Amino acid sequence: MQPRLLDSLDLQAFTDAARNIPYQQLNSDLFHGLDVWVRRDDLIDPIISGNKAYKLFFNLIEAKKCGAKIIVTCGGAWSNHIHAVAAAGARFGFETIGIIRGERPPNLSATLQDAERFGMKLLFVPRALYRQRSELDFLRIIGLWGKDFYFIPEGGSNLPGIKGIQLLGKVIEETAPVGFDEVWVACGTGVTFAGLYSSIFSASVIGVEVLKAGDAIFKGVWHWIWQLSGGRYVYEQPIEGLLDASPEALRKNLLASYHCGGYGRVSRALIDFKLGFEGVNSSPPVDQVYMGKSVYALSKTLGSIARAEKKPVLLMHSGGLQGRRGYK
Ligand SMILES: *Cc1c(COP(=O)(O)O)cnc(C)c1O
Repeated sequence: MQPRLLDSLDLQAFTDAARNIPYQQLNSDLFHGLDVWVRRDDLIDPIISGNKAYKLFFNLIEAKKCGAKIIVTCGGAWSNHIHAVAAAGARFGFETIGIIRGERPPNLSATLQDAERFGMKLLFVPRALYRQRSELDFLRIIGLWGKDFYFIPEGGSNLPGIKGIQLLGKVIEETAPVGFDEVWVACGTGVTFAGLYSSIFSASVIGVEVLKAGDAIFKGVWHWIWQLSGGRYVYEQPIEGLLDASPEALRKNLLASYHCGGYGRVSRALIDFKLGFEGVNSSPPVDQVYMGKSVYALSKTLGSIARAEKKPVLLMHSGGLQGRRGYK
């Protein structure tokens, strides 16, 4: 299975690419007989990979529509989002500026080396200042205020980002090879989860939080669901499947205890599990920051709902493989 290349911002072509993503049935006894499938969205493009492709698609269309020449975004040294935005800028004709957390190190991470090679201008911002990136005068302090650009928040977490994920959710509903009981996805900002939760109703959507976020991911997701429940953005009418949505119901679908110590942190058990998982020939490669924690959580809980029937479970491969260069 070779990655394809997203070479236009055409909605039909993008939807077709999403429809052609393979579903792979896992042959691993790590899941105790549960029928686990992986949707290989890491293969949607060799560089603009996984959920980042979906979160960027409508952002890129918006940027073109408003005539922007420059896209600005932010992230950390190993950010999959920074990597994807830099690549997308090069491919679709935007200049890109990446606001990067921390001082410029003597040796750039492989991710940032790529980003520079793709033409992204890196703007390093001390950590204390970076923490204020949502505050009113942040852009002024870093010297970008009044410049002409299209801004994408960290991780692609805005409404066009969600809209792209909802496209994915609809494609999953259309193309699922078997009737899945649950769809699992890794959560950083929770936008990918929110997009799937608001577009897949034939299965429960389960999110694995990969950072120690307290209530933050849950609250962020509820905020998106609340905004989307009127359905005015993507759908012409209220989203019927969300009519019964409630914070209590939502909370059950977000798993907060598999972060293994925090974002980017790992435990011995996680590493051992990941090695065992990848040791099976047919298993797809996974990163330890996002996907590793998701497969680990899945094996630990074996799906949270309707387990008695052992119906098949789908895991979205959200990409992130470029980040594997950050650890050995
Ligand atoms: C960014 C990322 C996520 C998290 O997506 P959110 O929408 O921020 O929750 C999950 N998996 C991978 C591989 C990622 O790169």
